[in-house]
Amino acid sequence: MKEGRSSQPLVTNSVKPKRISASSAPGVGAARFNLLWKTAERIAMANSAGYYLEATTLIESLVADRLEKRVQFLLADHAEAESKKVFREARKGFAELGTLTKLLSTLEKDEALRASLVVIDEWRRGRNKVIHQMAKLGDTVRDTWDERLANARKVAARGISVLCEVDLVDRRLSHDGRGVQFASATCPNALEPLGQAPCDWCAPGSAARARSTVRPRR
Ligand SMILES: [Zn+2]
Repeated sequence: MKEGRSSQPLVTNSVKPKRISASSAPGVGAARFNLLWKTAERIAMANSAGYYLEATTLIESLVADRLEKRVQFLLADHAEAESKKVFREARKGFAELGTLTKLLSTLEKDEALRASLVVIDEWRRGRNKVIHQMAKLGDTVRDTWDERLANARKVAARGISVLCEVDLVDRRLSHDGRGVQFASATCPNALEPLGQAPCDWCAPGSAARARSTVRPRR
């Protein structure tokens, strides 16, 4: 065996991991907050250092986690959905961004999140080009390296903006009408490294907090 190579396969388990929710076990919420904070911190670091592809990959992972949470919540009320392939895919384990946007465009009723899905899907196509085509020269792909890097920079910046927008919608869907205790995993400030302001609903004394705590639960 050559030095630096291992005979062990990188992937040993073909079963996809499933997302666990904060209510499923003690410590999950705190562990997820910490992971999201670290991811946001790394995105900011990679982006400012010019590592746009790393930033873009992490943004995708974070956006997918936010959508996956919403899918899990909505699928709980859709037992009959088992018959559709895309629904079965989402129940199997971690799903890709394209699967999640497709699924939510069927399930989601919230207008703001539906609008975000269109934006996410548009960003996802730009992300695919950056991640998969950087080193490829084709009949319709003749950009120089500098042009590709400039595009990667734009995709990463747009991704941060899309992520923060989705997070705002997600916070509202988590809190609004249900009270301050129904926080999002990013609450109060997991995305602060990316410039996202702390959650209005979680901030003590905020107008949103006062509104949310006096409303009856849905
Ligand atoms: Zn909050």
